[in-house]
Order: sequence, then C-alpha cells, then structure tokens
Amino acid sequence: MKNKYKLIYEGKAKKVFNHDDSDKVIIEFKDDATAFNALKKAKFEGKGKLNCQISARIFELLIKNNIPTHFLELKNEKTIIAKKIKVIPLEIVLRNNAYGSLCKQTTIKPGTFLAKPLIDIYLKNDELNDPLITKDRIELMKIISSEDLDLIIDLTLKINVILKSFFKKIQLKLVDFKLEFGFDSKNNILLGDEISPDNCRLWDLNQKNDTIVSLDKDRFRNDLGGLIEAYSEINRRIDNFI
Ligand code: UDP
Repeated sequence: MKNKYKLIYEGKAKKVFNHDDSDKVIIEFKDDATAFNALKKAKFEGKGKLNCQISARIFELLIKNNIPTHFLELKNEKTIIAKKIKVIPLEIVLRNNAYGSLCKQTTIKPGTFLAKPLIDIYLKNDELNDPLITKDRIELMKIISSEDLDLIIDLTLKINVILKSFFKKIQLKLVDFKLEFGFDSKNNILLGDEISPDNCRLWDLNQKNDTIVSLDKDRFRNDLGGLIEAYSEINRRIDNFI
C-alpha cells in the first residue's frame, strides 16, 4: 500500500496501517508464511488474499453470533478495516483433537478426540519462543485480570461451538485453532487477529478412509505441498455455502 497510510506495525503475516479515524486500523494480509517461530519462512503468492477473504467471512459469521470482534469491513481483496485494539500478549489455543505440539509434549496420540475441548495458553513472546503459560503465571505477570481471562476462555469455547458446526457443514474437521484478543478504547475485550488456515487446523472430511488430509498451514510446516490449492479449496467451500 502506498504512503497515504502510515505503517504502524509489521508482523509475520500482516501489516497494520493507521486509519483517518484513530479508533480504526487497516490490516493488510501478506503472502509470507512462517513456522516454528519463523525458523522456516516462505512466500506463497495469493495466500494473503485467500486468508483475508476466509477470515473476513468467518468474522462476519462470529459477529452474527454475537461474538465481539475487531472486524469492521473488507476494504479490498487483501485488506480489512478493523477497530484498533491493544493486543493482549497471549495466544489462546483450543484443541478438539490432539495434534502438533500437544503430541510432541505429551504421550497423547495424534488425532485423539478430546471429549472436553482443551485450552492451552501461550505467552506471545518471540524471544522466549511463545512458551506454554499457566493461569497463575498470567496473574503473577499481571498480564490481565483473572476475570478477563475467564471471559476470554468463555468466548473461546463459544467460538469453538460456532466454528466447529460451520466447518462441519462444509466437510471440514476443526482440529484446533489459535485466537488473540485485545482491548478497545473503552476497555471492551474483542477478538482480534485472523481466523484462517494459517491458525486453524482443518482436515478434509471428504475422505473414504482414515487418512488425514490437512487443508491448512501443516501443508507448509510438514512440507506436504499444495498450500495455495488447500486454502483455495477452503475459500471455495465457504463461497459455495454462504
Ligand atoms: N498456532 C498459531 N500460531 C502459533 C502457534 C500455533 O496460529 O504461533 C495454531 C496452529 O496453526 C494450530 C494451533 O494453533 O492450529 C495449535 O498449534 P500447536 O500448539 O499444535 O503448535 P504447532 O504444531 O503449530 O507448533
């Protein structure tokens, strides 16, 4: 984007620009992909647009279901306008099935269905490699109050119910996902960031046998190839459904 808007923050997958209205920001989705705390990097042409479209429609669905979010509107194919929030430095991961780091750190077998969704919270800190953190440590560090943490956990569980049922309708299993929250200027907690195959594990349910077909960033993490094809397939299924 050209100079009219000032870049205020550049992350691994998005750029944030200021807006004429100081309560809003402009968020541009990049084509860059990173994994393992940016040890692995690549660029996938078209990923930014796909994630922007997918995320916008998922946020609209959540808003319809009364989830408070930062999303305001799509600006163009790879840019959204959102409410400005002060991001809480926590990554809230919800797991419906065991996979990824949960299986590396425990003896739970990949794919195991978790009767009760598991919430794992990580401290958003690249230098420390985003460590798993406890409620007591969050309190000790005074990151947020325990009431606000409870509210975030409650919102995450509600979001899971909405997303799980939505993805099932388009033949996708929602294995796990990561959320980020923040405070708006009136101190309301809003869902921020994005919801896309970059931060959700989505498995194709259109399979005759039990093979796992990942339509998400595991295609990059695990060198499976076909990332853009997978993201396009998700975008197409959402398009056909909505
Ligand atoms: N995740 C993410 N950003 C991160 C770490 C994880 O969006 O920095 C997402 C990831 O895409 C998956 C879920 O959170 O949907 C759980 O990831 P996990 O803890 O299993 O870590 P990973 O296997 O990605 O190292």
